[in-house]
Amino acid sequence: MYQDLQGKTVIITGGNTGIGKACAERFAKEGCNVVVNYFENNALGIEELLGQLKDLGGQAIAVQGDVTKEADIKALLKETLEAFGSLDIFLNNAGLENEVPSHELSLDDWNKVISTNLTGQFLGCREAISYFLEHNVQGNIINMSSVHEIIPWPHFVHYAASKGGVKMMTQTLAMEYAPKKIRVNAIAPGAINTPINAEKFADPEQRASVEEMIPMGYIAEPEEIASLAVWLASQEAKYVTGHTLFADGGMSLYPSFQAGRG
Ligand code: NAD
Repeated sequence: MYQDLQGKTVIITGGNTGIGKACAERFAKEGCNVVVNYFENNALGIEELLGQLKDLGGQAIAVQGDVTKEADIKALLKETLEAFGSLDIFLNNAGLENEVPSHELSLDDWNKVISTNLTGQFLGCREAISYFLEHNVQGNIINMSSVHEIIPWPHFVHYAASKGGVKMMTQTLAMEYAPKKIRVNAIAPGAINTPINAEKFADPEQRASVEEMIPMGYIAEPEEIASLAVWLASQEAKYVTGHTLFADGGMSLYPSFQAGRG
């Protein structure tokens, strides 16, 4: 538990599934006011989730919106302020991917992934920072990146490019707003058991082939990412900015060199 998080307001994009949902639950446990942004296709169970977040000890609202739309991000902040009166933490989590060999990737698919994973995060960062500056808040931004901010990923060039962009955006904004004590960090998960991977991990062969790429030998649960998000947002991390925290069981450590190979 991080006492200083009690009563803080956090916005989480894509907060009703996977890693975002686990973060919503963990921030609620810390006593935060949690704003769950959800995309229109994923509205199922939202009332149940809000009830659960309240039971965990937080206040919670849900705001529907598409992170690629400037007006939706502005409305997200507006509704947050109407409900809770302030904003302290913005967690840019929404993201998507699809597998296509790069020479066959359509411009529509490229634009969809870049506009969600990179432009959507930029819009969240920009709105949050404008608010923090205007209200003199030493706020916090956390961007959900991926090990693919550094690991190339054939068939997922749009995804890898978006996460590489998130890394540089995070560092640039961290430097730009450090004098105002606004911190901007990222988290790079490895392989996590969420809906984005549901199909892949349901197939025992594909699951085993992913596990082989993880020196620690297992696919993590979303709660193992949420624990980093609350730490980054807390005062325990108050001197940390511009970092990507990798939580990947060693996936980014060149596992093919394991056991003296190479
Ligand atoms: P997920 O599919 O459960 O979550 C993604 C969320 O983003 C969903 O709720 C979806 O509705 C939302 N979303 C998509 N487009 C949106 C839009 N335009 N506007 C608003 N919301 C939108 O998968 P997840 O694994 O929980 O992914 C969360 C984040 O973690 C993503 O950024 C993903 O790239 C990143 N990540 C996941 C893994 C993993 O192994 N699961 C690994 C590295 C990074």
